[in-house]
Amino acid sequence: MTHLTIAIDGPASSGKSTVAKLLAGQLGITYIDTGAMYRAVTLAAQRQGVSVEDQLALENLLAQLDLSFRRQDGVQHVYLGEEDVSSAIRSVAVTQAVSEVSAQPLVREALVAMQQAMAAKESVVMDGRDIGTVVLPNASIKFFFVADVAVRAARRYKENIERGMTDQTLAEIEADIEARDLYDSTREHSPLKQAEDAILVDTSHETLDSLLAKLTEMIQKRM
Ligand code: C5P
Repeated sequence: MTHLTIAIDGPASSGKSTVAKLLAGQLGITYIDTGAMYRAVTLAAQRQGVSVEDQLALENLLAQLDLSFRRQDGVQHVYLGEEDVSSAIRSVAVTQAVSEVSAQPLVREALVAMQQAMAAKESVVMDGRDIGTVVLPNASIKFFFVADVAVRAARRYKENIERGMTDQTLAEIEADIEARDLYDSTREHSPLKQAEDAILVDTSHETLDSLLAKLTEMIQKRM
């Protein structure tokens, strides 16, 4: 099989991870959720009381970071050391702090290097904000997902309810999404941006099945 690298970027809750997971399953390749990596660093920083202003402490935290993905019963879990932090990284506290942590060049350098090493080793579907622009500039194919903010907030709200997270209203979620998108797309380092050679996909009014069928057809043409 050829070495396949599929990049999916886009704003928060645009459908990237749902589609990326399904595509990876269909193609029998590995899914890498880079947002989960930034969230795990944010959680570690919060637990150790490391602020982004303290670059030395941040550097130490990154040097000692023991971050891994482990597959269990077909589902990917995120670990810090031997602790499964898959749920903890989705908390409101982490979600509200992650953009500031991921804007730090030190954090980006460390995680981008890990992501590039993962993609060099095997075929991957990787989703995030800077995959097509920075992490995998030579990806086999790049997609940039967009969707109306109201649609994205409704999706995240439903997901949260399914996960038993009921501490935010729909309006609060929409406000958080807008704040995070603004921060992510205006930051100095690797802002959220469509790569020139990425295919724009509006997921607002697509069913998952039709979206998957369209992407699969485009991917097959590049294989
Ligand atoms: O994808 P998710 O919403 O979980 O990402 C959480 C945050 O991680 C984003 O809001 C963004 O600040 C950061 N991120 C990033 N670069 C990536 C993936 C995520 O800066 N490649």
